[in-house]
Amino acid sequence: MAVTVRPVTRPERDLAVQVYIVEVLKGLGVTFRHFFVNLGRHAAALAGVKAAPGAVTIQYPEDPPALGGRARTRHRILRRSDGSPRCTACLLCETICPARCIRITAEDSPAVVIEKRAKTFEIDLGLCVFCGNCVEACPVDAIRMDTGDLDIPAMDRRSMIWDLEKLMRDG
Ligand code: SF4
Ligand code: SF4
Repeated sequence: MAVTVRPVTRPERDLAVQVYIVEVLKGLGVTFRHFFVNLGRHAAALAGVKAAPGAVTIQYPEDPPALGGRARTRHRILRRSDGSPRCTACLLCETICPARCIRITAEDSPAVVIEKRAKTFEIDLGLCVFCGNCVEACPVDAIRMDTGDLDIPAMDRRSMIWDLEKLMRDG
């Protein structure tokens, strides 16, 4: 397939842009416009005047918003009926992950009909972009993003890496 390359010309940075102050004032103008328009809408609502609804700040995490049914949230690895992970260590999810945040090591499976299983399975949630590619790629429906859990902050980067044990908590 032929690829068309269209060169993009950088816009000229005239004097007004280079001294920044004009651009800063423009930005402040946008901010204050939104502030006063929103204030006016809320004031109108309080006074009983029909107007467009004002923007409302979500009080997260005290009052988390309702998630849609198809929201992609923290991953989980599903279990088989015997409690072992359903993952067959095919590495498709690791291969397709655009953030390269999945790391799997495989080992032989003791089950006769299953060739491999995951010895270790880690997802670095600090790098994950929640695209859902891993879920789409999995041939055995072993990984899902349906926990409804987005409350995954941590005090250090290492703690953002979830291993097989943690990922199977809701399996
Ligand atoms: S959701 Fe996307 S970025 Fe996150 S682990 Fe899966 S494939 Fe990688
Ligand atoms: S795609 Fe599914 S079966 Fe394959 S390694 Fe990932 S979770 Fe395991």
